[in-house]
Amino acid sequence: MGRGLIVIHVDGLSHANLQRAVAAGQMPFVGRLLADAGYEALPYRCGVPSTTPFAQAGILYGDNDEIPSYRWWDKERDLLVAFGSGATFHKVAGKYFQGREPLTRGGCCIAALYAAGDQDRFGPAYEERHTDANRKVILPFLTDPVTLYYWIRHGGRSVAMITGAYVKARLRGRRAAGNYVIADLYHEVVVHHLTRFALLQAIGEGLPVIYACYYTFDEAAHAFGPEHPESLRILRHVDHTIRLAVRRARDRYEVVVLSDHGQVETEPFLRKDGRRLGEILAGWLPGQQVQEFKGGRFGPENPSAGRVVITYSGGLGHVYFRDLPGRLQAPDIDSRYPGLVQRLAALERIGFVLLRDGDQDVYVTGEGRLADPRQLLAGLDDPEVIGAQLHRLNSFQRSGDLVVFGRYRDGRQVNFENQVGGHGSAGGEQLHPFLLARRECGLDTSAVASAEELHPLLTSLRDRLAAAS
Ligand SMILES: [Zn+2]
Repeated sequence: MGRGLIVIHVDGLSHANLQRAVAAGQMPFVGRLLADAGYEALPYRCGVPSTTPFAQAGILYGDNDEIPSYRWWDKERDLLVAFGSGATFHKVAGKYFQGREPLTRGGCCIAALYAAGDQDRFGPAYEERHTDANRKVILPFLTDPVTLYYWIRHGGRSVAMITGAYVKARLRGRRAAGNYVIADLYHEVVVHHLTRFALLQAIGEGLPVIYACYYTFDEAAHAFGPEHPESLRILRHVDHTIRLAVRRARDRYEVVVLSDHGQVETEPFLRKDGRRLGEILAGWLPGQQVQEFKGGRFGPENPSAGRVVITYSGGLGHVYFRDLPGRLQAPDIDSRYPGLVQRLAALERIGFVLLRDGDQDVYVTGEGRLADPRQLLAGLDDPEVIGAQLHRLNSFQRSGDLVVFGRYRDGRQVNFENQVGGHGSAGGEQLHPFLLARRECGLDTSAVASAEELHPLLTSLRDRLAAAS
């Protein structure tokens, strides 16, 4: 009889941060897996954008084409595509993953961004069957006295710890991103427990492949920073979930743990003068209205000269000229808006602006258009690898007419969103997540330069496990 595969997705934890957490004793079970159970923590590269929609689509479907960010503008449909609360991805989902077979075929996805299993739970709530599946988890959860007892006991303690950490950070004059503190609370107190329950339930049902996502660390790291003790403390719950899953799985399943991207410390774009990128752009584009997601709206209410949309994902911004169809080419932008790109790239807070010219990448920094971007790229990662990753992002039709990167220097990124830890862009640990598996599984991630390259490794492992006698 074959064995099943469980993949536990820990959002936002870089390979380096996993090692820190293990060394600090915050993940004692993972520490034991590494020391005595033949597991290894393999680094891999998630690619750019270093965001969950891009990485998770790659892992689940082996296809993350045209996913340029956490949120983006679809010019054809004239609509914002977003995930999380108010998600709109379902409106364009028909354009994605055609002819692809998900890793979780015949199994179940728990709390994933995409519908990818035969039974998805807490997934994107856009299909009837999910509502039924959610009921299938929530009701048993709330009527199981032991689970409920631990949830209430742990929930009360978590609320106290997270609000305590928030108050302490504020008193010490440190930043803490308020919205994310609430998201962190919600994820730790409610979502994490329901997801854990759903995972154990799916194991109990013997589903052949299970993919379960835990977002609590990512939310905490956005709120407090990736290396803050409060963020690392959260990993104790993740560690506990991994322990429960491995124990419950026994020899019926192989358990693999992975992350989708890391995070880096940030400084907010508006710290310098309180002005947002949208406001600055609106000042340079008279008669145009500039709308940010998420952010503000600047310029005239009834714009005479056109509309601009900016979508943010941490340190990455896509700028779209909303009324001009298709993705604009560099010469077109230069002739319509002379000097605009150069002015933007010259902002001290901006690392570089990426444009398209035919199949060529055009890099613009404060020094002008770069003939050779290798030195710039070397500040972000291996120049060959990051160059290829950016080339791919720049080939997407749904990337912005201008793709704007906040400056990355000395491990810190200028962030367009109000977060203490950020990702989505290029540079540092945000690009280097991990895959934790037993050596015997024979997974080699050393050449993985983008998340979709994990898909064939994991589907082959799934199939080998199923076929083993
Ligand atoms: Zn995140």
